[in-house]
Amino acid sequence: MTTITKTPEEARNQIVSMVRDFVRREVEPAAADHDANDTVPYELIDQMKELGLFGINVPEEYGGMGLDYTTFAMIFEEISKGYMALTGALGTHHILTYVLTHYGNQEQRDRFLPRLATGQIRGGLALTEPGGGSDVGALETRAVKDGEEYVVNGSKMFITNAESGDAFCLLARTNPDASLKHRGLSAFVIEKDGSPGFKVGRHLDKLGYRGLDTCELFFEDFRIPAENLIGGEENVGFGQVMSGLETGRINVGARAVGVAQAALDASMRYIQQRETFGVPISQHQAIQLKIADMATKIQAARLLVYDAATKKDSGERIDLESGMAKLFASEICGEVSMEAMRIHGGYGYTKDFPVERYYRDAPLMIIGEGTNEIMRLVIARQLLRRPEYQL
Ligand SMILES: Cc1cc2nc3c(=O)[nH]c(=O)nc-3n(C[C@H](O)[C@H](O)[C@H](O)COP(=O)(O)OP(=O)(O)OC[C@H]3O[C@@H](n4cnc5c(N)ncnc54)[C@H](O)[C@@H]3O)c2cc1C
Repeated sequence: MTTITKTPEEARNQIVSMVRDFVRREVEPAAADHDANDTVPYELIDQMKELGLFGINVPEEYGGMGLDYTTFAMIFEEISKGYMALTGALGTHHILTYVLTHYGNQEQRDRFLPRLATGQIRGGLALTEPGGGSDVGALETRAVKDGEEYVVNGSKMFITNAESGDAFCLLARTNPDASLKHRGLSAFVIEKDGSPGFKVGRHLDKLGYRGLDTCELFFEDFRIPAENLIGGEENVGFGQVMSGLETGRINVGARAVGVAQAALDASMRYIQQRETFGVPISQHQAIQLKIADMATKIQAARLLVYDAATKKDSGERIDLESGMAKLFASEICGEVSMEAMRIHGGYGYTKDFPVERYYRDAPLMIIGEGTNEIMRLVIARQLLRRPEYQL
């Protein structure tokens, strides 16, 4: 028997096309209902488990697919074309798998990655607090060592997958006296264990990104085994989580490209059907200018996302590239989804067409994984450090 080995390009095309089929067949028909009723799409999540999508950045030895970050971005783009909120089940899950893969010790990788890769347990990221999300270094949740355990007290805000997820990457303060605030933070992997010390708070009623649970978390003398300290080292959690957030910024950039592309695709269909002044509106030059700008911005955003993804694969820190990709892609997604609504006229303002949902979903990408104001600060800081700009 001849064995046909796929090139990386063929393997990528195969998985992206499998995801595209799943989105057309299963996701697109279900999206509007989940969005309207704000119900978690468990049936779609189960199908994503079967497709292996909870293990896309998990190494094969732990049961994942070990895909490169460009393929990772393409998968997020495809799903977002059908229903952006569904990618929320995968986004922070993959930050947890990234942090465990790169910073966890062998015992932690063995204990968590195989279950995360299949989706048997679903992950999330518990970083933001009610007191603020941008100033991560200032977070106040405390983890105090007590024998072979840590005792956690504090609360987290806006945690995606809080109700439906099982395990979280928690960033908590272990050294309140650190001279630099962010050097007193440690990352833990925590699991819901039914104990009263770990409570999930209210399900937030959101503008968009509906169907995915975003909630508060409360910790009251919540005890976690000391072996859940990621990598077994205290006070290095900030860097571990920030490195994981780069993958988050690739995924958020890719989601923005997906939503913007869906908005353009819907507009392309509409302008060839809708007539005014005796011709399809596609014949009006003002409409043509809009679609040309929309398509150009989307392609530029896509290339920035791929550029960040390619550099992430090389193992470099990509604060600059992932910041640029997330900033640009999410800003153009806001612009393109607004233009799509305008192109649809009054109908764009109704729930009869999906552009209304794209318009409500777009701002999440501007805020999530660090706001775009913070992205600009990250980019500027990186530029100022460059040798070529030193005076
Ligand atoms: C739907 C949703 C899902 C989310 N999921 C998660 C999750 O799973 N896990 C998680 O940990 N977090 C999550 N977040 C939180 C998100 O990352 C934060 O909302 C975000 O980082 C901003 O924090 P904040 O809301 O506290 O705003 P703040 O930090 O209070 O900022 C308020 C405003 O001030 C601006 N600002 C702040 N500092 C500066 C500065 N130095 N210079 C200029 N402008 C500044 C900000 O850009 C913003 O416009 C989610 C948020 C949403 C809305």
